[in-house]
Amino acid sequence: MNNKGKLFVISGPSGAGKSTVITRLLKQLNNVYFSISATTREPRRGERDGIDYHFITREQFEQMIKNDELLEHAEYVGNYYGTPERPVDEKLAAGYDVILDIETEGASQVMARRPDAIGIFLFPGSFSVLEERLRLRSTDSEDKILRRLEKARQECKKAEMYDYIIINDRFETACDEAIAIMTAEKCKTAERLHYLKED
Ligand code: 5GP
Repeated sequence: MNNKGKLFVISGPSGAGKSTVITRLLKQLNNVYFSISATTREPRRGERDGIDYHFITREQFEQMIKNDELLEHAEYVGNYYGTPERPVDEKLAAGYDVILDIETEGASQVMARRPDAIGIFLFPGSFSVLEERLRLRSTDSEDKILRRLEKARQECKKAEMYDYIIINDRFETACDEAIAIMTAEKCKTAERLHYLKED
């Protein structure tokens, strides 16, 4: 019986609206687990340790790399980000679908290690909308905003490696599309064929 969950990798430039779309997915769909990443970046206002991220030091992060505890990791605008592997595998084995919110370098590591992973790339609709959203998130300095914008341009060049692209110019539509993708993936023949087998 095929009751393992599916692994969804969601990427897109910061400012594309990944977190808000993912929050909606978690509310609307059953048996979905959001993978909590480890990062060395400082928490933003309102972010909680162990819920939004595991906020750790560079030393702790490097130790996790050494211990081979990460499914993937990457450096992004001067900080480390990585996905602890064990919780992902535990949730998949328990039948949960798992969502990773990660940038493109980490995503390509996951695609290589987990060929069954489904990649979804989220884009805000245009680069000017992206810049506006990054500026509204005023916690970042001008230098950081420019680096994130440059990074966004590089990330968009990698959109081809994903299975799906969602244009988030209207939040409701973007959520509907993400739900449609996840639902369709669960209805694939390979997922459902076991129902048709006689005892
Ligand atoms: P932010 O600092 O805005 O929360 O995240 C910056 C970027 O890091 C985003 O594109 C986000 O998707 C990515 N990110 C978050 N967690 C991880 C992770 O565990 N691994 C990788 N490779 N990227 C991550």
